[in-house]
Amino acid sequence: MIVKSDLSEEVSARLQCDVLVVGAGMAGLTAAIEAAERGASVTVITKGPVTRDGAASWMAGSGFSAALYPPDSPEAHARDTIRVGQYLNRQDLLLALTNEIPRCLGLLDHWGMRYLKSEGKYVQVRFPGSRHNRVPRSIRNGIMLGPEYRRLFPKQLRRLGIRAMGDMQALEILSRDGAAAGILALDAMEGRFVAISAKAVVLATGGFMGMYPLTATSPTLVGEGVGMAYEAGAQVQDMEFADFYSNSLAWPPMYAGSIDLATMLRIDLNGKVFNSRGEEFLVAKKGSGLAQPVLCQQEIRSARCSPNGGVYLSFKHLPDNLIDAYLASMGDSRLLHSLGVMGIDIRRQALEIAPAPLESMGGCRIDSRTRTNVPGLFAAGEVAGGAEGAFTIAGNPIALDMAMGAIAGRESASHAREADQSTADLPNLAPSIEEALRPLREHSKNAIPALEARRELQKVLGNQLHLLGRTRESLENAIGKIVSIRRDSRRWRVQTSARTHNSEWMGCLELRHMVTASEMVARAALARSESRGLHYREDYPEPSPDWLCNIVLQREGDEMRVSRVPVEFPFMRPPEQQVPPAAKSPG
Ligand SMILES: Cc1cc2nc3c(=O)[nH]c(=O)nc-3n(C[C@H](O)[C@H](O)[C@H](O)COP(=O)(O)OP(=O)(O)OC[C@H]3O[C@@H](n4cnc5c(N)ncnc54)[C@H](O)[C@@H]3O)c2cc1C
Repeated sequence: MIVKSDLSEEVSARLQCDVLVVGAGMAGLTAAIEAAERGASVTVITKGPVTRDGAASWMAGSGFSAALYPPDSPEAHARDTIRVGQYLNRQDLLLALTNEIPRCLGLLDHWGMRYLKSEGKYVQVRFPGSRHNRVPRSIRNGIMLGPEYRRLFPKQLRRLGIRAMGDMQALEILSRDGAAAGILALDAMEGRFVAISAKAVVLATGGFMGMYPLTATSPTLVGEGVGMAYEAGAQVQDMEFADFYSNSLAWPPMYAGSIDLATMLRIDLNGKVFNSRGEEFLVAKKGSGLAQPVLCQQEIRSARCSPNGGVYLSFKHLPDNLIDAYLASMGDSRLLHSLGVMGIDIRRQALEIAPAPLESMGGCRIDSRTRTNVPGLFAAGEVAGGAEGAFTIAGNPIALDMAMGAIAGRESASHAREADQSTADLPNLAPSIEEALRPLREHSKNAIPALEARRELQKVLGNQLHLLGRTRESLENAIGKIVSIRRDSRRWRVQTSARTHNSEWMGCLELRHMVTASEMVARAALARSESRGLHYREDYPEPSPDWLCNIVLQREGDEMRVSRVPVEFPFMRPPEQQVPPAAKSPG
């Protein structure tokens, strides 16, 4: 047990600020900048080095949807998003975001992004799902813009005097009288704890798709934000919905999950996808109504897959000299280099691809001002749910996330202006620190290696909470396994007892929240007895008008309460046949 004198040893710093932003991707850094512009003292913390961590924002492609010129409009943008989101979006929030996005694009431009313009106007292209040309083209050739975004922020942080602290893993939201009052974090470099009190906390920790065994995002994005928010009493929604991306490499392991190479080759060289029987199954099953990632996963599950658990992406239908000319046109590019490292000659061999989780739709339930139901707690970016509904349009997530960050920055600054400083006093930290230290000190005979528990959880995620395997029986079984992993959490131990730079310990501290996030996915998937977006219930393969509802999860003591909340349609109603009879207006 930690006594008072030990506690001061364990806590290396106690800091204070008006607004504390947790997470330094596009949403978090935009929130920090907007709050600081409004005079708030701002601290931002992130798990890795600032702007060089595993944020999905630094991996993003070229899509950034912004409705700029008629006939396009923020309303038209919202309408497309609602249609693709299958009417589960929170419409007032979405409209606030589509109205905010053009300003965000202007900020990126002002900060140094280089967009292609003609006669003073952005040149925009249309992405699937959008009815207008909405994605501004960058003057930089290539499909990944994440590294460009990354370079913009340090200058803005310096300009505004924002305290940005890297290698700080947030562990818990500290509350006082039911309101968010700060964060307890592990300083990973020192192996000691940092307590930061704040009048407002903005969660911007990204999504949870990194929990899965094969993932297209960073394996560090594992749902800690949504887990912390849930623990603090926040409502969470739409956890059953996610985007899985088909063009992710399944092999070799060094590149597993990466999407840029296969995407580019498939588009530019019109690649064909085959199963192990040589069948072009995507063409054959075109009318099935099932989404491409589900069709690929069906082949993989039915053992009609490649040796490394993928399907084949082939270019052999093209003449060698055409492929050669294309590869030569790539010059000395990073992607060409990776093909060389893989030792794959695409004139003769296919790439192996498999659907991998890319982006989560679900997260903290927020209103149009990004407020959660916990006073003083805001959420922005992929950690928040509601903007996208059941599915998304390529190019939408990052723009929506940045817009959420902008709104959260303004709202948190104004909340902080009105909050009393005493609300930022922190509670007793000893129990939380004790809990965080336990895996280092656990030496009992029954101790369970945390890495083993993580592997067990990932088996459940990969087999039962992936694109396939969602049936009542399988989901109930998954919940049983997750609950049992959680029950054993007090016995988790880490092999390496070092306090500094101990990634095994950090991984173990992540695991607690991964378990919560996985349980939320499983319970929401079980509750939703229909198929919608990429949530595919094999026992309920069709969408149902009865399910124009969000599934909301909230902590009640030690129980996870699951409720069904009807969606409101203040802006755009679903077509008549999609509305449940009870909700249709008479006549
Ligand atoms: C490969 C790839 C390509 C994509 N391409 C596109 C695209 O072209 N267009 C598009 O619209 N969207 C795209 N997306 C999705 C989009 O990039 C993300 O949805 C978006 O960037 C999320 O932004 P965010 O700021 O919410 O989270 P992130 O950018 O993921 O940032 C989360 C931050 O939280 C930090 N963090 C996490 N946990 C903790 C913790 N416990 N303590 C402290 N810090 C923590 C992380 O280190 C990180 O700094 C893509 C995603 C991927 C993976």
